Parts: sequence; structure tokens; C-alpha cells
Amino acid sequence: PSSHSFPEFRNHFAELGDDFFAHVKPQALSKSRMALVNHTLAQDLGFTPEICASERFLEVFSGQAIGPGSRPLAAVYSGHQFGVWAGQLGDGRAILLGDLAHSNPNYPRQELQLKGAGMTPFSRMGDGRAVLRSSIREYLCSEAMCGLGIPTTRALCLASSPQYAMREQPETTAIVTRVAPSFVRFGSFEHWYYNGEHEKLQSLADYCIQHFFPDLLSIANPYYEFLKRVVQQTAELIAHWQAVGFMHGVMNTDNMSILGLTLDYGPFGFMDGFETQKICNHSDTQGRYAFHMQPRIGQWNCHALAQALLPLIDDIDAAQDALSHYVPSFDTHHEKFLRAKFGLKRRQSEDAQLFETWFELLAGSASDYTYCFRALSDLELNQPDFHNSQTYQKLRNQILDRDGFDTWLRHYQNRLSLENSIETERLTSMKQHNPKYVLRNYLAQEAIEAAEKGDFSVAEQLHEVLKNPFDEQTNFERYAALPPDWASHISVSCSS
Ligand code: AMP
Ligand code: MG
Ligand code: MG
Repeated sequence: PSSHSFPEFRNHFAELGDDFFAHVKPQALSKSRMALVNHTLAQDLGFTPEICASERFLEVFSGQAIGPGSRPLAAVYSGHQFGVWAGQLGDGRAILLGDLAHSNPNYPRQELQLKGAGMTPFSRMGDGRAVLRSSIREYLCSEAMCGLGIPTTRALCLASSPQYAMREQPETTAIVTRVAPSFVRFGSFEHWYYNGEHEKLQSLADYCIQHFFPDLLSIANPYYEFLKRVVQQTAELIAHWQAVGFMHGVMNTDNMSILGLTLDYGPFGFMDGFETQKICNHSDTQGRYAFHMQPRIGQWNCHALAQALLPLIDDIDAAQDALSHYVPSFDTHHEKFLRAKFGLKRRQSEDAQLFETWFELLAGSASDYTYCFRALSDLELNQPDFHNSQTYQKLRNQILDRDGFDTWLRHYQNRLSLENSIETERLTSMKQHNPKYVLRNYLAQEAIEAAEKGDFSVAEQLHEVLKNPFDEQTNFERYAALPPDWASHISVSCSS
């Protein structure tokens, strides 16, 4: 294809048949402009810089025109919201355009969805729109997670518009194009289970196995293995979240990806001042989705999925067995990720205590999670006079219990000496596992405020930095600094 030809959409999901979705037509926002384009991802999907700059690209990804081969649809799903069965939900403001091949032939085809392109039969009370604020957050966070190596849906571009949507106050709107191999959720399965439509349940499971777990095709009853894989991937995803200090905020079963991707960026947050029970979503009054709850909520959600798959697995013990992989899988990954953060190569059961004490020190002074781990990755303990170093002071100053910190550091040094690690290697490796840059709420807020005035350069710059969160980026030290005082007053709710 020439550099000017728009890639042709297919739509694998549509093969499932009309019961799984409704055909819909995107409704464009007025006076849209292409505000942000993720050129790396665009390239991978076959969009050359010329196409990205074209009127056609704006038209397709702002909902003004239908791309070649695309038959837009909104999928139906149900789910448990805050632990309560909510019945039918569905794509109320997401529209699937179809899928495109990835430039890497080993990758699955990627589905493209417009988020905020108007109402669908599943919009219920909603307006089908997304405000600029939440769209910027979704765009930046999905790319930040990608940079961190955490499974996630991606963002291709953001089209903004001066058209208003009514939230707590009127806000301008946008359409983000999200990208993932599939947007099927736990709730997609729950939908057919609770409607008693077991053939459709099976069609959906077969579809997922065929497209995303093809090695299970040859197994007689693949549904047990399918559940087990999803359970393991989910546990691994949440281990990633815990290690990096990410809080999703709304872990309802309709927001749980069947592929173990971080899905649906709403009132999420990265941990700054460490608090194990931190709640990032101001609408979550009970703290169901608090930081420390995420692992067990992930497990709860897997139970909901297992329940929905029971008619296919047809053996309650097998379903229980598949679920029993959650905890070991979470623990294995979590421990592995933490060990890497502390620069430890070998596994030792006593390490749990070492990690625990560190977290207690951070919690005791609400020390900044990202900042302290990164400072630890800078600390050259082999220097006999390291106590005089700036890095030592920098880290120690974050912790109120100075004596406790020094005691912990001695334990840590002893632990390091047990595996004869080479300090330069260890510090290099630690810097690959302790990001310097995360999408702090206040940084997102700065990008939002500039964008609301029509200036997307702040968001663009932040995106660039977050692409390589482990690298020293000397011109952007500011983004790695402790958050300012006003940051703690930002309130993030479900409103988006
Ligand atoms: P969420 O809490 O973002 O996972 O959304 C839950 C349900 O509400 C999903 O079915 C969404 O599609 C739907 N929804 C959220 N916001 C809107 C909106 N502005 N318009 C229509 N539907 C929405
Ligand atoms: Mg959702
Ligand atoms: Mg949402």
C-alpha cells in the first residue's frame, strides 16, 4: 500500500453475530481537531505520518467519516459494580471501528475503538461523550503504563472539540481512539451466563480461545484452561499494579479485561505519599477499591468469571482448581517484582520481612512511593562514607523514623552481601524496575489545564517523558520531583 492509503479495517468481533452488539454510527463532535497523535503506535498500525496529518485521519478518528472496511458497533456486556450485580451495561460511549493488522506479524490484530463518539443502545442515562479532562488522563496513562511494561489498552490519538458535555460543570469534550487486541471483559461472559444463554456463552469463549489462546484449541475441554490462564494473567497484572503503586479505582467486573490488560482509565491514580489503604476514587466511599484491596478484588472478580464459565467447565471442582492459581500466581509475580525493585537476584523467604519493614517506614511518614524507590536505586552503599552522600540524605529525609531507617539499611546491606551482588550492576538493574517518572495526578492536571486552553504541548511533552519512565531525562527533572502541596487537593471521581 502507498504511504497515502488508509489501512483497511476488518472486524473479527462482528463474526460473533448480531446478538453480541448493535450496529451504530459515530456522532462527530463539532469543530474537532486532532490534538494528540501517538506516532509510534500509529506507525505500528500502518498509519504513516502523512496519513496521520491528513484530513481523512481526523475525520475517521473524530467520528465524522467511516474508515475503509469499517462497520462500527457497540458491544453488549453486563457486570458487577462495587460488588453488586448491575445487569446489562455495554459500550455506552465506546464504538468499535474494527481491527487492523500490526506491523509485528507476531502480534494479534488490534481493535480500534472511539471513546466518546456519541450514544449507543447501551448508553442508559449517559450522553455517550467523554470530557477532555478524562480523555487526556486516559491517553497519557495508557501510554505511561505501556512505558512501564504493564499490560494495557493503548491510545492512538485524541480529537478535541469545543462542544460541551454536562458534568458537575460544563466541560469540553474529546474522542480518544483506544487500541487493544480485544475489549472483551469478564462482564461480557457474565452477560450470557446471567441471561441463561449458554450457547452464546460458549461462542464467546470459543472466540476468545481461537483468537487469543489458540494453543488451547486442541484440548478437549479448553474452558478450564482458558479460565486458568485468565486467572493467572489477572493475578500478574495486579501484581504489576501493586509493585508500581497504581490504583485502578473502579475494578468492576465490566472493567476487567479478558486479556489481563489494564482497561478503562477513570479515577485511577499512582501512589504518591504511601498509604496502604489509599483510595484514589472519591466516589468509592467504602474503600472497596483501595490500594491494599486490589489483589483480593482481582480474585473476587475471577470468581465472578468462574461462576459465569461454570456451564462450560461443567465441573465445580475444576473451576475451583483454576481459581486456586490466583494466589500463588499473584504472590510469585509480586515477590518477583519487589525483589527486582530492591535489586535482589535470589529468592529468600526472610525477604518478606525486609520488604514489609520498608513499607512500614514509608507508611509511617506517608513518604512518596515512586521517589523513595528511585532514591534507593541511586544509593551507592559500597562507598564507606555513603552517609555523607546527597542521595543518602535525600532518601533519609523522606522518612520520619530516621533510626528505623538506618537499622533497615543495615539489614538491607547484610542481605545484599549474602548474594555478592555487584553494586553498579545492581543499581543499573534497580533503575530498570523503579521508574523515575509516573503519571502523577498533578502532572496530568497541568496537562489538562493547558489543553483546556487549547495548548496540547504540555500533554505531548509529558507523553514523551512517560514513554521512557526508567531513563534519566535531565531536562525533565521537574517531572520526577515530589508533588507540590496543591496536588493533595485534587479530587478524582467517577465523573468523566
Ligand atoms: P465505567 O464506570 O466507566 O466502567 O462505566 C460503566 C458503564 O457506564 C459502561 O456501560 C459505560 O459504557 C457507561 N458509561 C459511562 N459513561 C458514559 C457516558 N458518558 N455515556 C454513556 N454511557 C456511559
Ligand atoms: Mg467501564
Ligand atoms: Mg470508564
